Amino acid sequence: MAKRQEQETASSTITEVGPGIIRMQLPIHMPGLGHVNMYALLDSNGAAVIDPGLPGRFTWRAIEDRLKQADLKPKDVHTVLITHSHPDHFGGARRFVEEHGAKVVAHESFRFGLAKSIIERQPEVSVNDLEAHADATQPDHEAAEHTHTDHAGHHNGHDHDGHDHDGHDHGDGGWWGGPSPWGGQQPRPPLNRRLLWSVMRMLGGRMSVPEISHPVAEGDWLTLAGRQMRVLHTPGHTPDHFCLHDPEAEIFIAGDHVLPTITPHISGISSSADPLLAFFASLDAAGAIPNVSQVLPAHGHPFADLAERTEAIKAHHVERLEKIQEISRMFGRPANVTEFTRHLFRKRSWGSMAESETYAHLEHLRLAGDAESTRDRQGMLLYTTG
Ligand SMILES: [Zn+2]
Ligand SMILES: [Zn+2]
Repeated sequence: MAKRQEQETASSTITEVGPGIIRMQLPIHMPGLGHVNMYALLDSNGAAVIDPGLPGRFTWRAIEDRLKQADLKPKDVHTVLITHSHPDHFGGARRFVEEHGAKVVAHESFRFGLAKSIIERQPEVSVNDLEAHADATQPDHEAAEHTHTDHAGHHNGHDHDGHDHDGHDHGDGGWWGGPSPWGGQQPRPPLNRRLLWSVMRMLGGRMSVPEISHPVAEGDWLTLAGRQMRVLHTPGHTPDHFCLHDPEAEIFIAGDHVLPTITPHISGISSSADPLLAFFASLDAAGAIPNVSQVLPAHGHPFADLAERTEAIKAHHVERLEKIQEISRMFGRPANVTEFTRHLFRKRSWGSMAESETYAHLEHLRLAGDAESTRDRQGMLLYTTG
């Protein structure tokens, strides 16, 4: 199977994707992702850029190269917009501020508290998509289950560090461990190689996180590319995610909220009680926008049908919710998050990332009145669904 478009290596070619809007691909190497799109919105004063990649010199060189192709220098960038608090989206922002005095726009709830909790260590892409990708690139499933080869094939070696995929390895320098909200110890994730977090530590950690000079909120209007664009707060993938809608050019700038072929990771460990419900509402809000003819995602290629894609992403989660109810009926007794996870995902995916997604779905069912939870004597949450 061909590589998914979100996994394609960053092309150095820049492309005009709307009036005064240029797509510039920056390299990233993360599970399920090969590039991040930085969009440059041109105006008479220079440009605003959206999501300027990971921190560090490697990305900065790519930023300079792409800007140069558009006859721009970093000093021409007067504004940096950050769709959400993931390092592959805000990385270059601080340098634009420190060297060139750029303004930084993000949602007013923007927060990245490095390594304080598991929240900041959550990945970009759903575990389902990582499994599907692994299946596509390694036809011999049995071999994949029992070896430690780079089963996803495009992780540049970050995905095979020789640990057992048993979810009980705590040997990564204290970044894991401690109780999870669903009880027990946080197991080590088998697929998420903590690349982001090691990159952040390497490059100065907190030093890379920009100060937000211009916080925005739902319904705000911004002048970008010489036109008016509306801010949509779209919590789900992160609580601070926002998108932009340009009604005149019929363009929707989607960040990670709506990606062309993959579903973003929805973490159960969130400041929101029901992040999946928030995500559904944000998908409905985006899908209801009339007359969008061009969607500009943070990963993958621009696409046309926003409502069709938001419906498909919702359907994926509805299917997962139904599967969880099926598993609960099969158990015929209250079961913990780890047990549900082990029936939802392949062994190689077991770990805190998969458990966090499972927990998000179980809590969604519980808060909708479709599941009940209790805690056992060890403090583990147990769920049964109706
Ligand atoms: Zn993200
Ligand atoms: Zn992303």
